Order: sequence, then C-alpha cells, then structure tokens
Amino acid sequence: MNPFQGITAAAADPILGLTEIFRADSRPGKINLTVGVYQDEQGKVPALNAIQQAEKWLVQAGRNRSYLPISGLASYCDLTRKLVFGEDSAPLQKQAVATVQTPGGTGALRLAAEFLHHTAGKQRIHVSQPTWANHNAIFQSAGLEVSTYRYYDDAMHALDKEGFFAALNKIPQGDVVLFHACCHNPSGVDPAAEDWQQIASICQQRQLLAVIDFAYQGFDKGLAEDRRSVEIFAQSGQPFLVANSFSKNFGLYQERTGALHVAAGDADEAARILSQLQVIVRTNYSNPPAYGAHLVSKILGDESMRRTWESEVAEMRRRIRQMREQMVQSLKDIGVAQDFSFLLDQSGMFSFSGLSPEHVQQLRDQHAVYMVGNGRINVAGITPDNLQPLCKAIKAVLS
Ligand code: PMP
Repeated sequence: MNPFQGITAAAADPILGLTEIFRADSRPGKINLTVGVYQDEQGKVPALNAIQQAEKWLVQAGRNRSYLPISGLASYCDLTRKLVFGEDSAPLQKQAVATVQTPGGTGALRLAAEFLHHTAGKQRIHVSQPTWANHNAIFQSAGLEVSTYRYYDDAMHALDKEGFFAALNKIPQGDVVLFHACCHNPSGVDPAAEDWQQIASICQQRQLLAVIDFAYQGFDKGLAEDRRSVEIFAQSGQPFLVANSFSKNFGLYQERTGALHVAAGDADEAARILSQLQVIVRTNYSNPPAYGAHLVSKILGDESMRRTWESEVAEMRRRIRQMREQMVQSLKDIGVAQDFSFLLDQSGMFSFSGLSPEHVQQLRDQHAVYMVGNGRINVAGITPDNLQPLCKAIKAVLS
C-alpha cells in the first residue's frame, strides 16, 4: 500500500505561480508587476549600500558560529523593538514587550498565530477584506478560524470608513483583529491618523486583541511616521502584537529577517509570554537564522551605517511615489479617459489598479504585462523604461 497515493497536488501559489509563467514568457519588453519585491530604476532588486557595508564588517569581525538563542540575537531584538515602537514608547520603558527574532514577517505571523491559539486560547481572527493572500492560510494552519471585516471600497478606490468601523464594532468581544500598519497589501489604502485613534479605542472598549502586521516600515511617509499605529496602540495601554519584516526595507528577502513583539501589561507578564514563545520556536525551528540579524543589528546600532540605510529607505520611498505620479500623468497624457488619480492617495508598493480580471488577462496575453488577477500592481516594478509601454498597453485594453 503506497501511503502517498491519495495525495493530490496543492494549488499553485497565485502570485509566485505567475512569476513562473512570466519567466517562461519569451516576449521582449515583458513587464512584471506581480510579486512584492522592490526594484530600482533598472528593474533590479538592489543590494543596499548599508547592507554591503555591514557584510564587509561581518566578514572582518567574524561571528560566533554556534546556535543563536531561541529568541534570537539579543542586540537585534533590542534595536528592532526600538525601531518598531519608538525609543520612548511606554511599553518599552516598562520592559513590557516580549520580542522574538523570527524567520521573516511570515515567521512572525505564524508564531503569533500559534501563540494566540495554543497559548492564549484565541479561536478567531478577523482580517481586512481584502488582505495579503497568505494571512488566511497562516492563521488557519495554526488552528484559528479566519473571518473578514469590511475595508476597501472598490468603487471609490478608498477605505470604506463607515463600513470598516461598523464591522469592527460588530466583532465579538475578545476576538483577534489583524491590521496592516501602513502600505496595505494589496490595496495601498491605509487608515488616517485620526482613524487609528478610533481603531485603538474600539479595540480597547471591545477587548479586541490587535495584531499589527508591519512589513513596509519606511515605505509610506518615513520610518518614524509609519509606526503611528503602533504608537497609538502603545499609548492606549492595551495589549497588542506586532509582526515586523525587514525583507523590504533592508532588501533582506532571502535572509528571513523579522520579529514578533508582544506588548504585555507589565514586565513580569512579558517575561512569561517570552518563555511561551520560546517553547513554540523550540518545537518548530529551534532558533532563527543569524546572518540577516547580524547585519540589521550592526546597521541599526552604527550611526554612520544607519544614516546610509535611512537615506536608502528614503530613496525607495521617493521612487515609488514618483512612479505613482508619473503613471497617473502619463495615462492622462496619452488620452486614457478613466481617472487614475486615486493611485496618488494610496501608499507603499501596492495598489489596486481598478482593472478587471478580463483587462488583466488581455494585458498578459496581448501585451506581456503581468499583474495579479485582482488588478493588484507592484508600483515598484515600474521603471522609467517600462512606464510608457505599460501605459500604452493599459490604454489599448481600456479602449
Ligand atoms: N505581511 C505582508 C502584508 C506582506 O506583504 C509580506 C510580504 N509580502 C509579509 C507579511 C511577509 O514578509 P516576509 O517576506 O518577511 O516573510
């Protein structure tokens, strides 16, 4: 009896699967706006200067080759926590945040999911409609039931504020709610500062436990500005979680570099939580990979390298913004009747273009332009060279 006989093939990942099809496409001038990776003006995934400097330092300084502690490199956890919460944050002052270095943001979310379900006894999490495709699968596979709340208004290309707050107010007390700190994936639509105050107070009143997914710090308004949601939750004094990723803002896609932070009531509670997170890590992957953590820890702790990194994040932010502006302008200039100016109100790498699945299919078949079926585009895949062909292709399918 073959024990594997009944196993059927899993569905291909909708986004990574598209990348495979893109690679196999032999048409010259093909354009890939699918996968969420930052690219520079030449369409390359850059190796940041700060990272290259830190790599040189690491080769010279050498490093301990033994395992990292279960919760990761201590200096990395400390510096990451300060970057994510802000140095003056009240939970940090009280030493009430349990931080664990994780394999990327995905690892942080999975650790959060296991902690929430198996340790904290949570049964249900609510995610925005729409959200990053992997959120559902991550939380479900840890045993949580996943529900959605109203978020994006297709017709307006904006946050459906009324629907959003009405939905939050209906979530059963004690449930978990996931938010994107900034640069919402896939819509590019974020709550405003005053909305975050309201979100935090609804969570506090209804005792909803927030998980803030922070994968794009620095890609909207700035490294400090983008942590507004974390600051507002921290000021409110309620417990919450933050899952952060350095894949995008350090260009450390391969090194799996992230962290999970649990803001608890006090230092004693945080210590108990940390011990439980360590049990989950120990029984999953034992301890995290070291390389990315050494680099990030060096950069965040070294004044000069940190300045270099901050200016590189600013440049990535500037380029994304510029591509949004040029795309809107260029579509207008070539006579596309539809108004795409909503792209300017959205932030980060992603936007819903508003193009239908049929348009998306035509763009791929007739123009070798690849975007996700729901019309999501990675703005960071647009370059000065592919901007005009892209806009002309969009015009062709819309007319
Ligand atoms: N959350 C969101 C919203 C993301 O877009 C991503 C990456 N696409 C992640 C988490 C995961 O990041 P990582 O690659 O570090 O696992």
